[in-house]
Amino acid sequence: ARLRQESLSKLPTTVKTPMYERTDLTPGIVHIGLGNFHRAHQAWYIHRLMQQGLAHDWAIVGAGVRSYDAVMRERLLAQDCLTTLIELGPNGMSAEVIGPMIDYLPIEENNAALIHAMADPATRIVSLTVTEGGYFLDANSGAFDFDHADIRHDAENPNQPRTAFGAMVAALRRRRAECLNPFTALSCDNLQGNGTILRNCVVGLARMSDPELANWIDRRGAFPNSMVDCIVPATTDQLVSQCRALGVDDRAPVSHENFRQWVIEDAFCAGRPPLENVRAILTNNVHGYETMKLRILNGGHQLLANVGEVLSVPTIADCMKDPDIVAFFRKVQFEEILPHVEAAPETTASEYLELIESRFANTAIHDTTRRVAFDGSARHPGFLLPSLRDALASGSSANGLALAEAFWCRMCAGIREDGSEITPNDPQWESLNSTAKASKADPELWLEQGFYSGDFGISTQFSNAFARWLTLIWQRGSRAAIAEYVANGST
Ligand code: NAD
Repeated sequence: ARLRQESLSKLPTTVKTPMYERTDLTPGIVHIGLGNFHRAHQAWYIHRLMQQGLAHDWAIVGAGVRSYDAVMRERLLAQDCLTTLIELGPNGMSAEVIGPMIDYLPIEENNAALIHAMADPATRIVSLTVTEGGYFLDANSGAFDFDHADIRHDAENPNQPRTAFGAMVAALRRRRAECLNPFTALSCDNLQGNGTILRNCVVGLARMSDPELANWIDRRGAFPNSMVDCIVPATTDQLVSQCRALGVDDRAPVSHENFRQWVIEDAFCAGRPPLENVRAILTNNVHGYETMKLRILNGGHQLLANVGEVLSVPTIADCMKDPDIVAFFRKVQFEEILPHVEAAPETTASEYLELIESRFANTAIHDTTRRVAFDGSARHPGFLLPSLRDALASGSSANGLALAEAFWCRMCAGIREDGSEITPNDPQWESLNSTAKASKADPELWLEQGFYSGDFGISTQFSNAFARWLTLIWQRGSRAAIAEYVANGST
């Protein structure tokens, strides 16, 4: 039978199910951008609390601001917002149905239902996973892009907002008018200082139409920084079949690795679930954890995925079996990333790298190089360029990071070394693709893009290395470039 509340009792006993009465749950969280990651991460933590008899007033209401979210909405509503999580452990797969989500709001152009739900006094947290590219950050300055057409639209039409941030501002305006507290706005995207970035988006947008409201949000609201970690591959048809083989007919299951971390700044303005009971880390030093994770794990992902795509290596675990790619990955990590990362509490950077390598090598996880390479225009600036900046500033080697940028450029040319096509893989694909093609003859063109402005553009050490690598990749191939880098070290 299809997964539904009423069919839960008929599932095989090997599938764990909610022990709480779902009809007793009341909403506390509105989540915008209800993709796979949220269901395997935040929803998993809330579910664990609910299993302990806690947080029953913190149920999740899903929402989206993109028209294509309607597909996910329909699928989830058809199964009473239940999700099957499939854990990909070293000893095989196991399935668990979780139920902390109780509704999914309609997707509307003016976001009326979303605004209404966020203005409701029961909503005490609005959380988001809208991807790194969803924060309207200017590619050059990294600051909020006030000139973006959608942002200008929302500033001019504050009651008919298109963006998540416009909807949040509209809801906060209502809450203020009704003498309610603001909700806590919690970003769960992979951005360094994601809470501060979210604050700048929301307060910045509010200021464009209503400065007093902006001050109120800034003073009374809360935007905790958080670091999220769990590898959650995109769902494939194969996963849907595997889920059925485990006994659950779920049309939208989510798989995830058997590791999870959530480090959150303990700064909420309207209460929070007792997340420390389920091993989330509530701390005032998110930054330390975050730098380590974004640079070693997320930066490491980019090291593997770009060259992996160019060489037609399907998954991250496959990359970890490729001796050339691993040699490149290790050398860049040890010589150019780790030296600039401070240890976080309880672990050193090299212990952390060891953990990451074993997670990446987990063959149970079918995490495609394509998914990981997606959105490089946001991921390179967030995950690799900070290491590059530190390496250049300290005068140490940046040769391998220059090679990583050259692999990204090579990938954006849209064709693999075996001649197959790489289909558009970035919101800015058109411009990346044409710049990448033109850079084949003139590598400097790639470095004239906004991501590299400031410190990078003026570093001849970096631009020379980049040009040399890109030329070598085009002339003799990616493996030859890696061989040269590994043999010649940190020139
Ligand atoms: P997904 O594709 O399943 O879902 C993405 C969601 O973001 C969708 O609901 C989509 O509509 C929404 N979205 C995309 N662009 C948007 C925009 N411009 N404005 C508003 N909404 C937008 O992806 P996912 O696996 O859920 O990952 C989402 C984010 O979660 C990642 O970008 C990352 O920041 C974070 N994350 C993911 C993983 C992972 O392994 N998947 C791990 C850590 C963190």
